[in-house]
Amino acid sequence: MSFLHALTVDVEDWPQSTLDHALPVTERAVVNTRRMLELFARCNVRGTFFVLGRLARKFPHIVREIDDAGHEVASHGYSHKPVFKIGPQTFADELEHSVKLLEDITGRPVHGYRAPDFSITSESLWALDILGEYGLTYDSSVMPVPMRRYGIDGFPRHIHRLDNGLIEVPLSTISFAFRRWPVAGGGYLRLYPYRVTAHAIRRLQSEGLPAVVYLHPYELDPAEIREVSFPVAARTRVTQGLGRRHIESRLSRLFTEFRFGPLSEVIEPNLETAPAAAPLSATSGFRPRPASPVGVESVLR
Ligand SMILES: [Zn+2]
Repeated sequence: MSFLHALTVDVEDWPQSTLDHALPVTERAVVNTRRMLELFARCNVRGTFFVLGRLARKFPHIVREIDDAGHEVASHGYSHKPVFKIGPQTFADELEHSVKLLEDITGRPVHGYRAPDFSITSESLWALDILGEYGLTYDSSVMPVPMRRYGIDGFPRHIHRLDNGLIEVPLSTISFAFRRWPVAGGGYLRLYPYRVTAHAIRRLQSEGLPAVVYLHPYELDPAEIREVSFPVAARTRVTQGLGRRHIESRLSRLFTEFRFGPLSEVIEPNLETAPAAAPLSATSGFRPRPASPVGVESVLR
């Protein structure tokens, strides 16, 4: 059987999650999520959908559609405010609210969590303790390379169990030119040429690491940026809009070249074969190094 990589989707509405958290979640997110479900069905792939609580509350039927199609439903928090900004109490409240909402809609337990904008950083490692205490099985929120707004320098790249029992699934990076580079998700998937992403996934595979591909439904919607009713900064237009037109064909190609599945199926075999390394605790044993200067990719996500 060929190597299984992880396919993940953060289900949210682009203006509300990226431009202003106070904006309403719009129907456009539902249309785009459906487009993604259709693409996955055509390509016969399943994945993990981290659904934002605010979207699930307003449009519960799309959560049911995701679940009915055989995908895993997991939590993307409630408001999309960064974890390091909301603090432990609000984080715990949002987590509970969002998980309960999803479980009530699907009738199944939620096992996983992904923070908005990978906002579990060295300043918010307490979130990993709260996720463990709450009884979740895994988290997939840490980018193991320092970026401008997120990432932790020196964090392990492989799937590993923390001292509190929580399993951490870091986002994919490869080493090149003396540093780690994020690959295989979001802006990186849209902006790097296809062959770069495919090469990166083969590299990860040769290291025994599954790629963790992450997507957003809006990335299949090239018209959105010119159709939104408020001004969007030029830089945001480029980083958030470029490559949306190509993502569907790029994903179809990726799905024929590599095998993908939900995180719940990727974690178990990889936890057993993870490279030997001292298990790290969310609060002890791991000492993040000071952040180093970052490159141009820091505004992508
Ligand atoms: Zn998000």
